Amino acid sequence: MPESFDLFVIGGGSGGVRAARIAAGHGAKVALAEEYRYGGTCVIRGCVPKKLLVLASRLADEFERAPAWGWQVDGARFDWATLREAKDRELARLESIYRDGLSRAGVRTIDSRAVLDGPGRVRLLASGETVGAARVLVATGGTPYVPDIPGAGLAITSNEVFDLPELPARMVIEGGGFIAVEFACLLQRLGVQVTLVYRGDLILRRFDDDLRRHLDAAMRDAGIAIRTGETITAIERWGNGLRALTDRGAALDAEQVMLAVGRVPNTNGLGLETVGAEVDARGAIRVADDSRTTAEGVWAVGDVTDRLALTPVAIREGHAFADTVFGAEPWTCDHEDVPQAVFATPEIGTVGLTEAQARERFARVDVYRSSFRPMSNVLARRVERMLVKLVVDRDTDRVLGVHLCGPDAAEMIQLAGIAVKMKATKRQFDQTVAVHPTAAEELVTMRQPVDA
Ligand code: NDP
Repeated sequence: MPESFDLFVIGGGSGGVRAARIAAGHGAKVALAEEYRYGGTCVIRGCVPKKLLVLASRLADEFERAPAWGWQVDGARFDWATLREAKDRELARLESIYRDGLSRAGVRTIDSRAVLDGPGRVRLLASGETVGAARVLVATGGTPYVPDIPGAGLAITSNEVFDLPELPARMVIEGGGFIAVEFACLLQRLGVQVTLVYRGDLILRRFDDDLRRHLDAAMRDAGIAIRTGETITAIERWGNGLRALTDRGAALDAEQVMLAVGRVPNTNGLGLETVGAEVDARGAIRVADDSRTTAEGVWAVGDVTDRLALTPVAIREGHAFADTVFGAEPWTCDHEDVPQAVFATPEIGTVGLTEAQARERFARVDVYRSSFRPMSNVLARRVERMLVKLVVDRDTDRVLGVHLCGPDAAEMIQLAGIAVKMKATKRQFDQTVAVHPTAAEELVTMRQPVDA
């Protein structure tokens, strides 16, 4: 008789780990299989190592600002290998926390690729063994999309960039989304000369237009070459490096080319057809609000469902699934008004509707906007400005969106997100006394709409 579990989780990333631990806490017999490293994209090659690199890169700005504040920082020099190794130690520490958390919760961890093998069965490819599973949760995440162009294999993606043996002198990055923009900013500050190639006319397509323009200008000021309306059509070896050819006839030479043109759900070869779980045209598993797939006894959470590809969302989806199915507490993850950050420099914090979305849905929209030099730049005579913007429904006075670009925008938007989620009005923002002197005080001191 094969061993049997109440729940078998495929994938040890943010969503799968949370679901497994909570389900085990509700008394279920749970197994979780992971083919690579525990922690998933977020911990191993996403949010966490990226943020470490971002923090390291911003020290470049501090060194530049320091003399105006009376500090002499002589001989500052960056060493990639030191940072890479420190980052690897931190990831190993976090991975072991994930593993320990699972075993403390009583979850059986299996280091193997696992695939569905018909209703109620999961096959472990490392041992060839098949186990029984009353319920299966697929939480296999996503992987970088690599376009089918000649020489694509010469390029790197966000999977490889964290472990480069050395930083290139020049890098061409394709894409205008989260990953392309974040890496362009951090690598430029670590001393790489970055060229960003984006097919659209302005980076970060789904974001508020003022934010997009503000960040685009700041990135250009930082020395990043941004080429819009252009696509890489081929990559070839050139001298000791590479050459990216574009549809506008350009030949861009660099030691590395990075493709950051989106991610695709990890559903290939998972055996979804053996249980009848449907996928959409992009390969994402179709799910209902409660993460139920079209197959009986199979659920899916996180990036593999292509709803909102963010770690905290996957965690909530996994938690809601476990409480609903194994606890006495049904709930679903709310995908509305999710605060988001882009860890560019300057960073973006955003929640709610963009101005354009608000104007489509509401008859009368007021916009409050302020742009100023943060104090950290004043003595150093740096020109970068901070942008603070509120989008308000004039009829109900409700704040529909908050959009920030500048230092600490990600920290600020977490808090502004509470107010937006509570459907706070502009009047309630205004009734809140400012914290002075801060950049965040602009959120509660803007009185005059820009279009009045
Ligand atoms: P995004 O969807 O954010 O961006 C993809 C970019 O690639 C877009 O600019 C898109 O252009 C462009 N693109 C897509 N297909 C092609 C193509 N065939 N040729 C040329 N360009 C193309 O994806 P990312 O890979 O940057 O990130 C994946 C997801 O991971 C994000 O959407 C986000 O959910 C998550 N993430 C979150 C982070 C955070 O919270 N800070 C950080 C990193 C990732 P267009 O705009 O024209 O469609």
